[in-house]
Amino acid sequence: MRLLVVEDEPKAGEYLRKGLTETGFIVDWAQTGTDGLHMAQVGNYDVVVLDVMLPGIDGWTIIQELRKNDNATPVLFLTAKDELDHRIKGLELGADDYLVKPFAFAELVVRIRTLLRRGPIREADRIEVGDLEIDVLKRRVMRNGDRIDLTAKEFALLHLLAKRKGEVLSRSLIASQVWDMNFDSDTNVVDVAVRRLRAKIDDGYVPKLIHTVRGMGYVLEERH
Ligand code: CA
Repeated sequence: MRLLVVEDEPKAGEYLRKGLTETGFIVDWAQTGTDGLHMAQVGNYDVVVLDVMLPGIDGWTIIQELRKNDNATPVLFLTAKDELDHRIKGLELGADDYLVKPFAFAELVVRIRTLLRRGPIREADRIEVGDLEIDVLKRRVMRNGDRIDLTAKEFALLHLLAKRKGEVLSRSLIASQVWDMNFDSDTNVVDVAVRRLRAKIDDGYVPKLIHTVRGMGYVLEERH
């Protein structure tokens, strides 16, 4: 698996290059935004780990340019603490995930592996999780053969969870993807929406499909 690390700070870049190489990845390291963009475009990488604060071409421009050119390489960007706007912006521009500096190296590896597993993003027209069926085009949801009526937001929330079934999604990620607003300070909105969705999807059915992962977020999956 080939990774591109774009990081201008020599110490941080060397640390990432060394650590990820020792983990078993093939790692290229770009030290400027210009090199990073060029390498990401021609290098056929499996994941790009991108620092956003770069001299010259910054991380935002790199993500934008890649997506504009239909380059769907998963991008995990690194952002400074307390930069909520950055997190939202990065995801909106088409990044796949982010980590807040400073982060534990082990977490970076887990996030990279998750992106590798997910592969290129294909939007399925139909998603099934156990006896839950979602017809994305017709926006129709069935559970155990029963038609379930959802509001537009409930459907968007269910669709997000189902697209990434088995993956724990944080409240802030859900908020940024389902609502076009910053709910990081009020993730209660997400909790309320999940509760409503659960009442329709899970109440009266077994097994439960929407699970709370304490301190992390929510996951939709069939557990046996
Ligand atoms: Ca930097």
